[in-house]
Amino acid sequence: MIAPGATIGILGGGQLGRMIATAAAQLGYRCHVFAPEPDAIASEVCAAFTNAAWDDREAMARFAADCAVITYEFENVPVAPVAMLAPVPVLPHPRALETAQDRLAEKLFVSSLGGTPAPFAQVDCDADLAAAIERIGAPGILKTRRDGYDGKGQWRIASLDDAARLDLPTVPLVYEGFVDFAAEFSVILCRGADGEVRFWDSAENVHLGGILSLSTVPASATVLAQVPAARELAAQVAEALDYVGVLTLEFFATANGPVFNEMAPRVHNSGHWTIEGAITSQFENHVRAICGLPLGDTGLAARGAQMRNLIGDEAHDWATILSDPANHLHLYGKAEARPGRKMGHVTRLVL
Ligand code: AMP
Repeated sequence: MIAPGATIGILGGGQLGRMIATAAAQLGYRCHVFAPEPDAIASEVCAAFTNAAWDDREAMARFAADCAVITYEFENVPVAPVAMLAPVPVLPHPRALETAQDRLAEKLFVSSLGGTPAPFAQVDCDADLAAAIERIGAPGILKTRRDGYDGKGQWRIASLDDAARLDLPTVPLVYEGFVDFAAEFSVILCRGADGEVRFWDSAENVHLGGILSLSTVPASATVLAQVPAARELAAQVAEALDYVGVLTLEFFATANGPVFNEMAPRVHNSGHWTIEGAITSQFENHVRAICGLPLGDTGLAARGAQMRNLIGDEAHDWATILSDPANHLHLYGKAEARPGRKMGHVTRLVL
């Protein structure tokens, strides 16, 4: 057990790290962020900040020497430098990072556990894409296997002709059939060091332009009917990875049951409602898990909750948002409100 007072290392400097550090501080821990960007917003609420490139081995070793345990808030942290951090424990284990960084590896892994992703095919050249469309059909979505997030690195393809006109990037890709879904939802669980698994209520998620817009709890009856099967898969994923911490799986609710979309080996945007809406938030339970503490209750703290992301300029409305006393406003402290950038979120409880 890592007792309060110790230092938790966080790889990645974004809003997820900022919220992990805030929860850690409440429990009496110090946090040390490692991030390549000088204006890492997580560092503003942390005791220490190493601003260095991921491949700066010396900086990474100095960072590790200051930490009792290290976690990550960003799944595109390169695995090689993380694997060098031993003997300091890295939780969740970097094998989760490795699996989730590659959309193809992730789909193969989840399929091997009995999960159902959208039909997919590996695409490394024009001929592969034509063959994939031939086999799976169109419409579909072509995605980069690595480094995509919030709808970036994705191309919607309506037909074979459409694909022929596309200037393919020279990176490994995966083509997915377009899923005809009734709703989207996520399963977020926390697995403790002793293997105990707790789930939060599944949020029903609405994405706009590939970016999460709204998460609502409780989800609709359509989603609720599919949550048990989705949870079973998520628990198997956690077990297979000997996972410690918060794990997220995103699903499409379809007429044929839950279709796996992707996993994130970390706290997740669709779980931000848990800060006010659950007895223990995803951030606090993540800290508890990686420090070997007992997990907190993941039950609802209200009848329901709704979280809305503030994207780009929407964050400029903070004064109006605060004029409604029921709104819980979270701003991430990002200097520039670029279009499509997650600047903050607002949660409302159903009391
Ligand atoms: P992703 O980054 O893969 O989670 O994609 C972002 C969003 O795009 C998803 O949450 C869906 O709304 C949509 N999307 C991605 N893949 C598919 C698919 N195969 N079929 C239908 N919609 C998709």
